[in-house]
Amino acid sequence: MSLSQGPRGSAIVKPTRTVKIAILGAGMGGLGMAAQLRRHGIDSFVVLEKGSEVGGTWRDNIYPGSGCDVPSHLYSFSFEPKADWSRKFALQPEIHDYMKQVARKYGLAPFIRFNTEVAEATFDEAEGIWRIRTTEGEEITANVVVSGTGQLNRPAYPKIEGLDAFAGKKFHSARWDTSVDLTGKNVAVIGNGASAIQFVPEIAPKVKKLSIFQRSPNWVVPKADRPYTEREKALFKRFPWIVRLHRYMIYLTLERNYLAFIKDSFFSKLFEKAGRKEIETHISDPELREVLTPDYPAGCKRILLSNDWYPAIARPNVEVVTSHIARATAEGIVTEDGKTHPADVIIFSTGFETMEFLAPMKVTGRSGVTLNDVWKDGAEAHRGVAIAGFPNFFMLYGPNTNLGHNSIIFMLECQINYILQAVDALKNPKVRYMDVRKAAEDAFNRELQHDMQKTVWAAGCSSWYKNAAGKVTNNWSSFTARYWWQMRHFDLDEYQLVG
Ligand code: NAP
Repeated sequence: MSLSQGPRGSAIVKPTRTVKIAILGAGMGGLGMAAQLRRHGIDSFVVLEKGSEVGGTWRDNIYPGSGCDVPSHLYSFSFEPKADWSRKFALQPEIHDYMKQVARKYGLAPFIRFNTEVAEATFDEAEGIWRIRTTEGEEITANVVVSGTGQLNRPAYPKIEGLDAFAGKKFHSARWDTSVDLTGKNVAVIGNGASAIQFVPEIAPKVKKLSIFQRSPNWVVPKADRPYTEREKALFKRFPWIVRLHRYMIYLTLERNYLAFIKDSFFSKLFEKAGRKEIETHISDPELREVLTPDYPAGCKRILLSNDWYPAIARPNVEVVTSHIARATAEGIVTEDGKTHPADVIIFSTGFETMEFLAPMKVTGRSGVTLNDVWKDGAEAHRGVAIAGFPNFFMLYGPNTNLGHNSIIFMLECQINYILQAVDALKNPKVRYMDVRKAAEDAFNRELQHDMQKTVWAAGCSSWYKNAAGKVTNNWSSFTARYWWQMRHFDLDEYQLVG
């Protein structure tokens, strides 16, 4: 029972119930959710984490040079600012440390169950609860499930004939094998996306030969990175409002960049101009310049930030291979032009399985309907968070909440705030569960996909943002401020309440 003020100050007794929440994953989303629950005085939750440490993608991506291309003062929680970021764009160890610090500060350790992988979650309609089964066969029940498994957690491997016969070492950049010394080796890197452009400049000086297998080039623009001075850090520490102002200025600058993602926009041309200039500055060979220049609008695939990618490519021991991979042999990779590229090590930097959100978990909602059934034509959700037929199930960084221009942490905080309001509504003992109305979900997605048509993501190029049918399932279609506006109040009318 809890007491609150009634009309004219009289105390009224308001019955409440304790809502048990299961959060899946202790990455940025899961930790942010858990910390906010603690900040709101809610302790009836558990975090189920398949790894043995917090950090999600920032625990897993330990490749050399791994870091974030969103400035750290914005790539952190608004409720947990950090005054002493060492540089504008922090590297993986510092981001991972920040996450561990958040877990420590909010006393999250007792709430996290490590080495606990969820295999299935099934909604028990009669009881109004979720039955979660781990890969070890244990059952955990919860009133509410919040999935924080993200979009980029399962590495994608290319299907290459003969790969099993390859005699050297091979690994994915998101599962970097630290036991492999690349010094003096012939190294083949497959892919040239956001991860490859970070580790290639790090490993290029030490390997004998580096062959980058490029399927399509990316737009790469300079990164305005530098260390923060001691004076700046002291100011940030002394005057927290300066940190807030700095964060806000970064936010506004990045928010403006959304304009570059509108088809044929002036800003998109500016990015292309900056990208072309980078190529001209660092690459002298006209043929290589052509190979590295994309033939699609900037932003269609993620715009990459780097100051050392083109200088690395210009090194005499680095080669960009554009002929498609035909097969692998014991000695290396054979391309369709018949050339053999000897390799001691193959590094797959081929991205992630992004289409099957929540996979390999099997999620079953009302009437035995599974997420696979509902999402057979591409994932979608109400505000990226809830799915009709899956009551009391909420997602963080779900469908259509990825960005090309701003901080995912901002989006996560909008979602966390929204879910907190849902949890609050579920404290009412008369409400057993809430299920988003299909009509509300459809209206939201109709508007989103209509909006999407004006963006470069709907343009010709292929990317991990859209499925085989061309539907953009991963990205938010507008300014993040618009998302914030829509998410600031939880609208109970959009939900069917079952008591
Ligand atoms: P990615 O950007 O999706 O790049 C994958 C690369 O592999 C692309 O060059 C792709 O070519 C190539 N590729 C995929 N399958 C292939 C195949 N079968 N044969 C040959 N090439 C193949 O993956 P990523 O670099 O891991 O980055 C994924 C996402 O992670 C990013 O977009 C970003 O959101 C996030 N990330 C962020 C940061 C950061 O700084 N915040 C850093 C790293 C990653 P095509 O382009 O032709 O498909």
